[in-house]
Amino acid sequence: MGSIERIQHVARKVAATARAGNQVVVVVSAMSGETDRLLKLAGQISQRPRDREIDVLLATGEQVAIALLALALRELGEECRSFLGHQVNIVTDSVHGSARIRTIDASPVQDCLARGEVVVVAGFQGADQNGNITTLGRGGSDLSAVAMAAAVQADACEIYSDVDGIYTTDPNVCPKARRIDRISCEEMLELASLGAKVLQARSVEFALKYKVAICCKSTFVDGPGSWVLPELDGEQGGEMLAGLEGAVVTGVACDKNTARVSVTRMPDRPSAAAELFAPLAADAVNVDVIVQTAPQDGFCDLSFTVPKVSARRTVELLEMRRHSLGFGEVRVDDQVAKVSIVGAGMRSQPGVALQCFQALGQAGINLQLISTSEIKISVVVPEHMADLAVRVLHDAFELDKPAGDRSLR
Ligand code: ASP
Ligand code: MG
Repeated sequence: MGSIERIQHVARKVAATARAGNQVVVVVSAMSGETDRLLKLAGQISQRPRDREIDVLLATGEQVAIALLALALRELGEECRSFLGHQVNIVTDSVHGSARIRTIDASPVQDCLARGEVVVVAGFQGADQNGNITTLGRGGSDLSAVAMAAAVQADACEIYSDVDGIYTTDPNVCPKARRIDRISCEEMLELASLGAKVLQARSVEFALKYKVAICCKSTFVDGPGSWVLPELDGEQGGEMLAGLEGAVVTGVACDKNTARVSVTRMPDRPSAAAELFAPLAADAVNVDVIVQTAPQDGFCDLSFTVPKVSARRTVELLEMRRHSLGFGEVRVDDQVAKVSIVGAGMRSQPGVALQCFQALGQAGINLQLISTSEIKISVVVPEHMADLAVRVLHDAFELDKPAGDRSLR
């Protein structure tokens, strides 16, 4: 919601949903740009991101938004009431800036709904058990919405943004990208943590755990949106997920915020890797794709990726231990990107990796590292080839076609 007009637009949508006979809880985030504006103000005074007072400050963005939306709903003749996070008993831990929700007692919400009122709840915020205001991390209104949906056992949780759903890949990189009708939470988690920014990853984790169905829609364009579905037990369960859309590959993600670090001639002995990664873990460096070569003559090479900002620090930390660890040298390349294909259907489909490597090979793209999980294949490629790799994989798995029309199924 970027302006008063937009707030009024949202109010009309909410009112229409309520008048269609639904009980509605609306979770709102701050007006666009507001959280950044507040963070900038704080940044002019202090550099402490995890401070209690930063949360007090940031939570105001959502307080403004719920009040304005409630006013707009009243103007439309809709009975409604706005609530801050703590007023609907969203209790979190005390980790300011990225608090986790512990419990919600939604009885005040239920009471309003029973009276036929629309409930407007401030997203992104809660309070710890001592009543200190906390926030749930950037994009945290998604999490608030999913958590409220779970607490009131809603039929569905619709999340509105400026995009009309989840796409097979970033349409700015690949114009042939398609909106996905249905995707599993598991796949969405892989895509979200791999750089697709539609939903906050933690909200998807929560939806998976508490079995909340999410529909991502656009505030501006009417359309079916994209359903993100938790794994369901029983009859709809296995069958539906094995064949959600009937696709082997559901999406392609790209993370350019990647640097590759290689350590050569690591002595081949037990716990060498543990000693190598210990200082990185102690310094909270986020290590991803890890590949070790088979030992030869008592040595092996080991490569992994870290976020670009951590590359220099990683090299420093490792260099300090070169003697004790006894490796050859550390090399770093921060001009790389990680490109991944994700799909629950890979579990039961042989040959996906081959097809992926062939397509990239034919396009002349050299793979520096490869790693796989049950539902994902990631490759590290030169950064200037990343967009090409995304398009090549999108074509190879025919993601531009409806899932039912693809040849590999
Ligand atoms: N206002 C918060 C943010 O900008 C929460 C949200 O938008 O979901 O991160
Ligand atoms: Mg958001």
